[in-house]
Amino acid sequence: MDERRLDLNDKPRKQGPVLYWMSREQRAFDNWGLLAAAAEAREMRAPLYVVFALAPSFLGATWRQYDFLLRGLRETERQLRDRRIPLLIRTGEPPDSVGALARELSAGSVFTDFDPLRPKTAWRKALAASLPVRLTEVDGHNIVPCRVASQKREYAARTLRPKLHSLLPERLTDIPALDTHPFPPDDFPAPQDFDALERRITADPSVSPVREFPPGYSAGMERLRTFLEEKLDRYPEDRNDPCRDALSGLSPYLHFGQISAQRVAFEASRTVSPGAGAFLEELIVRRELADNFCLHAPSYDTPDAWPDWGRKTLERHSGDHREYIYPKETLEAAETHDPLWNAAQREMTERGKMHGWLRMYWVKKLLEWTETPEEALALAIAMNDRYELDGRDPNGYAGIAWGLAGLHDRPWGERPVFGLVRTMTFDGAKRKFDLRRYLESASRNKRSK
Ligand SMILES: Cc1cc2nc3c(=O)[nH]c(=O)nc-3n(C[C@H](O)[C@H](O)[C@H](O)COP(=O)(O)OP(=O)(O)OC[C@H]3O[C@@H](n4cnc5c(N)ncnc54)[C@H](O)[C@@H]3O)c2cc1C
Repeated sequence: MDERRLDLNDKPRKQGPVLYWMSREQRAFDNWGLLAAAAEAREMRAPLYVVFALAPSFLGATWRQYDFLLRGLRETERQLRDRRIPLLIRTGEPPDSVGALARELSAGSVFTDFDPLRPKTAWRKALAASLPVRLTEVDGHNIVPCRVASQKREYAARTLRPKLHSLLPERLTDIPALDTHPFPPDDFPAPQDFDALERRITADPSVSPVREFPPGYSAGMERLRTFLEEKLDRYPEDRNDPCRDALSGLSPYLHFGQISAQRVAFEASRTVSPGAGAFLEELIVRRELADNFCLHAPSYDTPDAWPDWGRKTLERHSGDHREYIYPKETLEAAETHDPLWNAAQREMTERGKMHGWLRMYWVKKLLEWTETPEEALALAIAMNDRYELDGRDPNGYAGIAWGLAGLHDRPWGERPVFGLVRTMTFDGAKRKFDLRRYLESASRNKRSK
């Protein structure tokens, strides 16, 4: 557990209630940060409080994402209350609202989650400076804690993989249960009024919640169970075929921390299946590589973070003729000449999650259909973060940089516009899966909306 922790200031730990600022890991169970805070509170014989700081806006999140988050927190609140731990929600700028609550409670120490994204890092830094007591960050997201796996930016899965694999055996374990807290507050707060809170959210309501992904811990764990029983065996052969429904669909739950990646990996590793290896490669190596990227390349959402060879080759091809150029409105409305891209785009805008293989195709077409790679990048991030339930995630920033500029990839044969960056084509898609079947099912989904 100690290796997951990093003290963010050198202020003292004092006697008093312990406050856990839940941020990236929005769950009661399998949560290392919460377990660390609970252990400290038991040692201090003091109450444990959990706070979630709801920012008025966050990286363009819409009602779709706020709804998923808040409905997940409703369940988390009940589960914590059952264990005599109150969950409080505070609105406003997170470092201010968490700092104010810590002072109000006379908290003796504060714990929070590791997250490599810039705004979250800035929040933690501001809170660490303003608190009179210790602020400790805990990595509850990565199975091998990100700062332990590697102290530098890794350039490909092949450089991180052996490090992770050598560190995994002691870490890919079960996670202790969260016990009922023995020292609850005497004046246990009334349950959070989520309905009132929701009425105050001002996020863009035009991007609506989606039916296919009911939020929360229980729904996420149920999805995991179904995936392991019904799909894991066929994951290696079928995962790149959008007609075959072989993916786990867990990314929204993992993104909001409603379930733990370590729990998912532990259960998958105990399942005797020919698919376990391929699934764990994505869930552990690819996912943890994305956190490594965002931690060590803080400009992860700009071309500055692209590999040198990718940036240079795109520059050399910046004057190449582009057959189609589309404005944002046409792209957003899925009205290009390419029916596959349009169907993928609608999967994202209407259903909140695009298939993994299509995401690669989708982003590469943006490079072909915009004036510059910078424009493609800005559009890809804006649409991914606006519509995907799992958007605003290191996986997204890494995936987009992979598609546009060869991050974590290698140079391929030289092509117009792409230079040495790997291309993907409509004809290639036709060879890979039954395109007609996919388009038919996409148009059925559209009609049934
Ligand atoms: C352009 C582009 C944008 C992307 N945007 C996002 C995003 O916003 N959020 C997001 O979580 N993922 C993103 N990805 C990565 C990947 O496509 C999704 O994680 C995956 O499709 C999620 O669906 P799933 O949970 O059913 O995947 P599964 O195949 O069932 O995988 C299980 C888990 O492994 C992890 N994983 C799988 N593939 C990758 C990958 N290539 N890189 C990192 N982790 C991976 C995810 O946590 C995923 O939930 C993006 C990829 C690309 C190319």
